[in-house]
Amino acid sequence: MDCAAVLRRPRVQFSGEDHMKKRIAVYPGSFDPVTFGHLDIIDRASKIFDRLIVSVFVNSEKKPMFTVEERVAMLKAALKGRPNVTVDCFEGLLVDYVRRKDTKVVVRGLRAISDLEHEFQIAGINRTLYREIETVFFMPRQRYSYLSSSVVRDIAHFKGDVSKLVPPYVVKAIAKKRGG
Ligand code: ADP
Repeated sequence: MDCAAVLRRPRVQFSGEDHMKKRIAVYPGSFDPVTFGHLDIIDRASKIFDRLIVSVFVNSEKKPMFTVEERVAMLKAALKGRPNVTVDCFEGLLVDYVRRKDTKVVVRGLRAISDLEHEFQIAGINRTLYREIETVFFMPRQRYSYLSSSVVRDIAHFKGDVSKLVPPYVVKAIAKKRGG
């Protein structure tokens, strides 16, 4: 059978529900603070999914630079004007949160091969806990592949210039935190 004949066949009919189903994805992270690297991933993912939920993971074992409220506020400021992106936070297991959000898709960023081992482990464990979960990875522009929140925190600690690494609202929030 040739390709043209296959294409002439009646299309598979999807049920109304399948057609209507929105593709929702969750992008979890510490975002302490949000950087241009995170925003690059959010830009890419929000073009592919109908709705992207960027969610701050509340880890009571870590001592963050910014509180959860501050991190959520910074994300909201940075993501203004993106109608299909919402900001949220969660505690506990990611798989439970993802289920509550009625999705199966998790977005993560891969900066370099060095991220892979850690991400591979998390994705594998999450799949063990929730068989249907899918982790989708996005690569940022090369210029952000060296950027992490911890690098920003280190520079901020010594009152260095972070304006090329984080959005303006975050630059101000860091200056305020550092008292200058
Ligand atoms: P970090 O690793 O900087 O502390 P998060 O815990 O907030 O950041 O990371 C959330 C997700 O975003 C992870 O998948 C991480 O690999 C990804 N990510 C962080 N920074 C970048 C970046 N500069 N480019 C692409 N992905 C990134």
